[in-house]
Amino acid sequence: MVDSWLVGAVSCSSFINKEPLFSLEKCNLYRSRLALGISELLGDASCWRVMGESAKKTTLYKGLLKNEELYQYILETSVYPREPEPLKELRDATAAHPRAIIATAPDAGQSIDMLLKLVNAKKTIEIGVFTGYSLLLTALSIPDDGKIIAIDVDRKNYEIGLPIIKRAGVEHKINFIESQALPVLDKLLEDHENEGSLDFAFVDADKGNYKNYHERLMKLLKVGGLVVYDNTLWYGTVALPEDLVEELVDGEYKKEMRKHIMELNKYLATDSRVQICVAPLGDGITICRRIY
Ligand code: SAH
Ligand code: CA
Repeated sequence: MVDSWLVGAVSCSSFINKEPLFSLEKCNLYRSRLALGISELLGDASCWRVMGESAKKTTLYKGLLKNEELYQYILETSVYPREPEPLKELRDATAAHPRAIIATAPDAGQSIDMLLKLVNAKKTIEIGVFTGYSLLLTALSIPDDGKIIAIDVDRKNYEIGLPIIKRAGVEHKINFIESQALPVLDKLLEDHENEGSLDFAFVDADKGNYKNYHERLMKLLKVGGLVVYDNTLWYGTVALPEDLVEELVDGEYKKEMRKHIMELNKYLATDSRVQICVAPLGDGITICRRIY
């Protein structure tokens, strides 16, 4: 557990005696202070990143809750015991991947499964597959004649999960397309029959395009259909002053992405075509239901 914590604002020296924060105790102190109010963190703090005991052991704490123990409690009490065996296998197969952190968080996954069932989703689309955690959970959730259009620019990672997907007997529901997502959506829209045809969409790819995806999905989704956007709280950084956020951490944690996410959040809040709900599951998901 100790090698998997979030250290906020490592150099927040006005707050904790100018030393880097490497103890769990201090981490938790930070986290609870962050939860209490970001204004307390202003000072000469210059970075916000995630670390383990040593750089090599770095793993990211995916939850947004006050402390990791609470997140672990939810996972161990309510999520892992209900996680289908093939999904667990896929999660384990992904764990060794250097970018394992980008896989959908299991608690977010559980809520996606619930939403799929609530709307009786049969025709779905997924933008951003990686090794296939959210794809497999969708394939397991929808009926046997259900269909998923799964788009990713990179097939290599999908192939890590593919043998597990095949063994789970759900590959026939998946149409994997190796491509940039936007042209695929535009192509789908060339055929008017595809308008209003989808029950569900999960968007978990390049954040800079979320707004473009949203415009297309508003046409492809049926009224009453759902689109779920992942990472809409971006490791909690949406609530941090910009100068606390590092440009880049482990190739993944970019200031620029935070900006895109913040713009998207504002945009969705003003979009009358959808009912929205932000849930602090995983790295934050925003559920949108098409109203008209
Ligand atoms: N939902 C996945 C995680 C997706 S990570 C899971 O549950 O594991 C984000 C993915 O988006 C990466 O695999 C990346 O290759 C893909 N991606 C990034 N930009 C993209 C784009 N423009 N079009 C399609 N896929 C893209
Ligand atoms: Ca994600």
